[in-house]
Order: sequence, then C-alpha cells, then structure tokens
Amino acid sequence: MSKLVIAIDGPSGSGKSTTSKGVARALGLEYLDTGAMYRAVTVAFLDSGVDPGDTAGVVAACTGARIEISTDPDAEWVRVNGRDVTAEIREQYVSQAVSTVSTIPECRADLVARQQAIIAAAKAGIVAEGRDITTVVAPQAQVRILLTADPEVRMARRKADLGGDVDQAALADQVLRRDRDDSKLVNFTQAADGVIGLDCTHLSLQETIAAVLDLAKGAQPA
Ligand code: C5P
Repeated sequence: MSKLVIAIDGPSGSGKSTTSKGVARALGLEYLDTGAMYRAVTVAFLDSGVDPGDTAGVVAACTGARIEISTDPDAEWVRVNGRDVTAEIREQYVSQAVSTVSTIPECRADLVARQQAIIAAAKAGIVAEGRDITTVVAPQAQVRILLTADPEVRMARRKADLGGDVDQAALADQVLRRDRDDSKLVNFTQAADGVIGLDCTHLSLQETIAAVLDLAKGAQPA
C-alpha cells in the first residue's frame, strides 16, 4: 500500500509539534511526537530511582520500558509501563532531565528502532517530528523538513505553550540549554543533504502549515 511519510525536525519551540499535528489533520495522516517518547523514558528512569549519572541504569530503564503512544493528532496520550504520563512529561523536571536520555547512544538506538516500527505500521502515512527524523529515523521520507525560528521567537512560543506562567531562567533552560545539550549527538541546526530548511520566524502557524502542505503536494507516496 502506498503511503506518505513527512519528517520534521527542529530545535525547541520551533513549532514542530503544532505544525506537524496540523499537517497530519489536513492530510488524514497519523502523527508521531518522538520527543514524547524520550520524555516518557525520562519519567520511567526517575520513577525507578535511577540516578541520572548511572548510564547503565538509564539504559536498562529505557530498553525495559513499555511505551504506548497515540498516533492520532486529535488524541494525544502516552503511557509508560502502563501509567498514563501525558501531562507529567510536560513538567519542568522532565524537560530538565530529558537530555540525559537523549545523549546516551544506546537509548537513542532503542527509541529510534521503536519509532521506525511505528512509522512502518502507519497504514496511510504519518507525520513524524523530532530532532533526527530527517536524518536517522526516516531518511527515506518523501518530505523532509528542518523547521527553524530565531531563538527569541522560540522562547516566546515555548512561554505561550506553558501558559505564560514561567520565568526567564526556566525558559532559557527549556529552550537554549536543552538545544545545546541535545545537539551533542544530533545535528538539527543545519539541514542535511536533501532536507528543506523552513524558517518560520515570521510565519504564523497557519502559514507554516500551508508551507509544509505545499512542499508535500509534489511528493509521491511510496
Ligand atoms: O520535542 P521535545 O522538546 O518534546 O523533545 C524532548 C527531548 O527529547 C529533546 O529535548 C531531546 O533531548 C529529545 N529528542 C531527541 N530526538 C528526537 C526527539 C526528541 O533527542 N527525535
């Protein structure tokens, strides 16, 4: 069966999630938030009392975690080891610790394999977003986009996501510090060969979705 895979990468606050959901809805595709999986593993290792410095312990918590995640853009939920952590994964303590998981190669390999299985199982197609989707998880995707925006705009968007109730230091940690740590193993600041860079600093959400839909128009489902 033919299906369309759209891969969208980008730094924190670039608007990847909202854009990806909008594109998935418009095209009737599934949606995968790979960041939610890194976040769910973070909850799992902290829950089990593993110290962030204990790499072997974090790897064991990751590879042993049962992760269930919705791929419906209108019904987002994620469960880890049977527990619903949909709201918890957005808490500040998870954002602070998630780079521990994402900078361990064994954890990345484990989660990449799971993400590839989810993409392979999506019958009509899927919009998958994260940091390494265009380069590692789905380099064969028909549409590959690196969504960027200036740091001030990304911080403002993240603030709005969090309901405006967040101080400047926490915001800088969630956006700038996290991007710095995350980019140790993955390059998501420059578009790789064949990946289209889309700067949405001056675009509204609707304009960004429209730009992605435009790029997808010419794509042939595989
Ligand atoms: O996208 P979001 O900010 O929810 O991602 C949370 C974290 O998961 C990122 O800060 C990064 O450490 C990690 N991540 C990753 N690779 C992905 C998606 C997310 O390393 N494909």
